[in-house]
Amino acid sequence: MPSPVGHALGGAIVGLVCEARRAGGGRGLRAARAALASPLVVAGAVAGVLPDIDFLWGRHNMETHSLGAAVLAAVVAWSWQRGQTRLALTVGLAWASHVLFDWLGSDDTAPLGVMALWPVTSTFYFAHAYVFEAISRRYWLDGFVTHNLWAVTTEALVLGPVLAVTAWWRSHAAAPPVARS
Ligand SMILES: [Zn+2]
Repeated sequence: MPSPVGHALGGAIVGLVCEARRAGGGRGLRAARAALASPLVVAGAVAGVLPDIDFLWGRHNMETHSLGAAVLAAVVAWSWQRGQTRLALTVGLAWASHVLFDWLGSDDTAPLGVMALWPVTSTFYFAHAYVFEAISRRYWLDGFVTHNLWAVTTEALVLGPVLAVTAWWRSHAAAPPVARS
């Protein structure tokens, strides 16, 4: 299961994809930076991390780690900012990206995986894909720091370039049409 860094990057990518075309966005690094500072990117990053709030009540990887919870989160966002369909879509899809990443990641605590299809079923799903390292919370074990540092580095190496390319694509897409004479 990725760290909050990996989940925030995933949610930010979703926010960028959901971003509307903005006239006069320009091109290049400055435009890419502006795309990254969009409220939808921030909302996506937050929604991407939020499912792990279940640590607080000791039901980790259960109800909040499901597509049902993603739909609920989108409905809550839509009710909060009525009519902001892009925000609701970003929140729902970013939340779902958390479920996807945890499904694709590593897990060392039974039951393995996530309750992805709650409330339809409480079955746990696990892809055995091991795309992301499991973040260790066993701070008393040898290698705790080095393992987690490596896990976060891997997430950044996998998702960082995806975020950069998506930011470039959005800023490129947002560029105004070239005037023809
Ligand atoms: Zn999680």
